[in-house]
Amino acid sequence: MKENTTYDALVLFSAGLDSLLTAKVLMKQGLRVKCLHFVTPFFGHPGHVKGWEKTYGLDIDIIDVGNAYVDMMRKGPKYGFGKLFNPCVDCKILMLSTAKKLLKKYGASFIATGEVVGQRPMSQRPDALNSIRNDSETEGFLLRPLSAKHLPPTPMEESGLVDREQLYGFYGRGRKDQMALVRELGVREEDIPTPAGGCRLTESPSACRYAPIFEHYPDATDQDFYLANVGRQYWAGTHWLSIGRDKISNEMIERNIRPTDYVFQLKDYPGPLVLGRPFAGEWSEEALRDAAAMTAYFSPRARRAGTETPVILRQGDEERELSVLPSKENSTGFHENVWKDVKYVRNGMDHHHTR
Ligand code: SF4
Repeated sequence: MKENTTYDALVLFSAGLDSLLTAKVLMKQGLRVKCLHFVTPFFGHPGHVKGWEKTYGLDIDIIDVGNAYVDMMRKGPKYGFGKLFNPCVDCKILMLSTAKKLLKKYGASFIATGEVVGQRPMSQRPDALNSIRNDSETEGFLLRPLSAKHLPPTPMEESGLVDREQLYGFYGRGRKDQMALVRELGVREEDIPTPAGGCRLTESPSACRYAPIFEHYPDATDQDFYLANVGRQYWAGTHWLSIGRDKISNEMIERNIRPTDYVFQLKDYPGPLVLGRPFAGEWSEEALRDAAAMTAYFSPRARRAGTETPVILRQGDEERELSVLPSKENSTGFHENVWKDVKYVRNGMDHHHTR
């Protein structure tokens, strides 16, 4: 944050087209805008923020709400889930409530979002927009510049702080109006955000990774979900096996190791770093051997050799070797999840019972 700068508006900035337009439309009126980019294990790209600031001429801060978000999910979102694990209405409420608490810090007087009436089935129906405003207690200082002309004038417009004439009346799903406006605002063609979703809670492979954590681990923090995002994830009941796939996921796993975790690594061949996280007491010798065999299986060289090979097993300060044949078959039952088999976890968390 630039010191001694105060702002007129905080814009919820996902870097999607609508949030970009919202920031730009307000800046065009001469308003001072601070963009807030919310980050959790489920969405957000903190590494892109510097680039966006430069490309779009914006002033952006990263707001990490990872643990508050995990809490909200665990308690069960008041307005339920969308198709997968996405609690869109509660998500917006959480972001707005957080932004509201930050108004004073930034000296800002209102919050703006890129919501467009009728654009998304779950979170942008008129009644959902009202719930979002009411539950986040932002009535009176929440502006939706892209759909303002479909909504009653806000105090910011009535006082003249914001010129309602320079706001828009977008409605529905089409992107035509937005595309025309983004060009009018001078954003270069190659910098126009694509409609990619970018929220892992709406993607089935990720939802499958999160379900068992919610099911088995009431103390999970955002770090557990960051770990679930990388590499291959295998589960057998309360046994979680996280298998590195490349350098980045191996490093991520390395950073996440806790003293109670089992860490597997091949002694004689290059291969993945594998982390076993116990949620319900120590693992049996059989489970440890199965995990070691999978560690060997995911090393192409160990698999090609096809002979017993030593795997180093660490837990805290202790270390020993297990000699195993590379194999993915196992009696512990380690497997990758598919959504239809873990959907019940989401349903059990959904107190809203809308679907
Ligand atoms: S898609 Fe994801 S980030 Fe967007 S509102 Fe829904 S839960 Fe939140």
